Amino acid sequence: MPPDRPLLRADLLGHLLAELAHLNQVSALSELASSIGHELNQPLAAILSNAQAALRLLTHIPPDIAEARAALEDIVADDRRAGKVIQRMRAALREGAVSVAAQDVDELVREVVRLVSGAARLAGATVRAELAPGLPRVRGDGIRLQQVILNLLVNALDAVSRCPPDARLVVVRTRLADGGRVELSVADSGEGFPPEDFERIFEPFFTTKAQALGVGLAISRAIVEAHGGRLWAECSPGEGATLRCALPVWDEGARPAE
Ligand code: ADP
Repeated sequence: MPPDRPLLRADLLGHLLAELAHLNQVSALSELASSIGHELNQPLAAILSNAQAALRLLTHIPPDIAEARAALEDIVADDRRAGKVIQRMRAALREGAVSVAAQDVDELVREVVRLVSGAARLAGATVRAELAPGLPRVRGDGIRLQQVILNLLVNALDAVSRCPPDARLVVVRTRLADGGRVELSVADSGEGFPPEDFERIFEPFFTTKAQALGVGLAISRAIVEAHGGRLWAECSPGEGATLRCALPVWDEGARPAE
C-alpha cells in the first residue's frame, strides 16, 4: 500500500463522519460517495483471493482445472460487480440522486452470498442461506442494501475465523416480520460480544480488530435508516452474534421514498 493511502482514507472517513452526523440533511449522493471506497474493497479482495486460489490450484499435480475455472469465473463476476458499483456512482453523479426501486431481498442476499463464497471457502467457513420464498419487495437502492448485507457477512466471517475449523458457520435468514417489514438476519458461531457493546459496535471507528477501520456497521446503520429501516445486534451469553435488519415493504400505492 503506498504511504499516502492511509491519509487519503482518513480524509474520506472524516467526510463520512460528517455525513453520518447530518444524514437527514445531506443528500443521499454524498453518503454514497463516502462509502464507495468501502464498497469497492470487497469485490477487489474477492478477486485477489480467487486469483490466489486459482494460481494454487494450477500448481497442483495434476492441476485442478475445474476448481481453477470456477475461481476464474468468480473473478469475472466480481469484476463485473465492481464495474456496476462505478457505473452506479457515475449515474448518481449525473442524476444528483440515488434511485429507489422495489427490491427482492432474497435475490440481493443470494448475489452477496455468491460474492463472499470464495473468501468463505478459503477461510474454511460455511455460509448457509435460509431464505423465505415469496417475500414482498422492499423499497430501496439495491447496491446500498447489498453493501449492508456484505458488511454483515464479512463481520460474521471475521468472527468465525477464530473458531475451530469444523465450527465456522454463518447463517443468513430472511422472513416476513410484523408491521409490514422484511427481516434479514446474519447469525454466526463466533464469540459474539458483551451486552455493553450492543450499541457501541455501531459507533464510527469502534473496532476490536487490529487492522480495521470500525466504520462498517456505522455505514450500514446509516444506510438502513435512510431506507426507513432498523439495524440492531443481539447476542446471548455463550452464543455467537446475530445482526438483524428490518426494512419496510414496498407499498405499490405510495410514492417512492425521497
Ligand atoms: P470493523 O469490522 O472494521 O471493526 P464494524 O463497524 O463492521 O468495523 O464492526 C465494529 C466492531 O463490532 C468489530 O470490530 C467487532 O468488535 C464488532 N462486531 C461486528 N460484527 C461482529 C460479529 N458478527 N461478531 C462479533 N463482533 C462483531
